[in-house]
Amino acid sequence: MEKGLISVDRWDEQSQAYFLTHLHADHTQGLSHRWKRGPLFCSPITSRLFPAKFPGFNLSLIRVLEIGSPHLISLVSPSSGTEIAVRVTAIDALHCPGAVMYLFCGEFGSMLYTGDFRWEADSDKALIGKSQILSVLQGNELDFLYLDNTYCNPLFSFPPRDVVAQQVVDIIASHPDYDIIIGLDTLGKEELLLHISRALKTKIWVWPERLQTMHLLELSDVFTTNTALTRVRAVPRYCLTIKNLKGLNSVHPTIGIVPSGLPWVRPVEGKDSSVGSDLSVCCTSKRSRKNRVVVDVSQVVASKFPKLLHERLYSVPYSDHSCFSELQEFIKFIKPAKMRGIVSSSICYVNPSYYFCDLCEDSQDHQQVDQSSESVEVIQSESVSGCNKSNIARGRKSSDKVSGLGVRKRRVSISRRERIGARIAEMDSTS
Ligand SMILES: [Zn+2]
Repeated sequence: MEKGLISVDRWDEQSQAYFLTHLHADHTQGLSHRWKRGPLFCSPITSRLFPAKFPGFNLSLIRVLEIGSPHLISLVSPSSGTEIAVRVTAIDALHCPGAVMYLFCGEFGSMLYTGDFRWEADSDKALIGKSQILSVLQGNELDFLYLDNTYCNPLFSFPPRDVVAQQVVDIIASHPDYDIIIGLDTLGKEELLLHISRALKTKIWVWPERLQTMHLLELSDVFTTNTALTRVRAVPRYCLTIKNLKGLNSVHPTIGIVPSGLPWVRPVEGKDSSVGSDLSVCCTSKRSRKNRVVVDVSQVVASKFPKLLHERLYSVPYSDHSCFSELQEFIKFIKPAKMRGIVSSSICYVNPSYYFCDLCEDSQDHQQVDQSSESVEVIQSESVSGCNKSNIARGRKSSDKVSGLGVRKRRVSISRRERIGARIAEMDSTS
């Protein structure tokens, strides 16, 4: 596809059509109420949530794509002035409300941009997504896959979300005299809260902005801002710190629960090096471009189960991103000719081709190093299945740098300045 036509989750450069996968802040960096570069395509639920997130935005720019229905858009080649037809289909990304993947088809071939996604392959919604993708591709192979590689490392393995939701219910039920604080982002994990509410027959407290979101999602019956009505409270993730938890416990016995696939990470160059001293630091450091992060593998391995991070603070592996085996399943299903990770500075920035080169044609690209990636250190690594094991630290306690693996020679590429988003452009096809 020619440069300057389409951008996905990228808002700072000129394109003819912009696609928003979902409303998490790391995918909307650069969007504001003043943004007006061009038409903005999104899912029906995202369009419903959008005005509250960006009050004053020119809503005439919003184009709503129904899930699973191919939509034809007409673009103009900047070089030749000829019309370029692009068929785009939004597929449920199973990540947070409104999150979608985009499947683009045209003379340039086919490209799937997953955005953030959780591929629980046997779930009803994934089966629907599967059939929609197959219907669009009509037996053809996918040419290029942009993959949510947040947890693209064999170290990461999560149970299905309904299993973890029950783990959370069990934790709450085993603490009948405690208040419960659950740390959440501004969007996502609604299904977890609904599961808790149904199982324990309780309402759930949320902060006022979250209640507005619940209203927009038509889920407001279960939620309240009246603390007298329930002992279960969902709070902004950054509020759930050890310090705050101690303060709450000085008033009433309280436990905290952090639902996240994020393993135990801590900044190497931060002022506080004590593991787990401040959970908010742990959570926000994951995608920092400034700090290297350390993954304590012994903690990752234990992440299939609830874990007591602190005296009264539990971590549960409830993830809205796919774990390694799910990514593998997805790639086996989609069979891309080439692929590329869309997360460039997480703890798992390794190009998916590094592990999955046997599942696509991208076999030579994985050996090249993407110098733009930040380094991470892996402490005490374990055996890894993959096609280039010699480059992976194994059985060593010391810190080994693992560099991101990128691609210099390929037909289709993306340019990224931030960790998320793509401006899709055609490169030299002879390389
Ligand atoms: Zn997200």
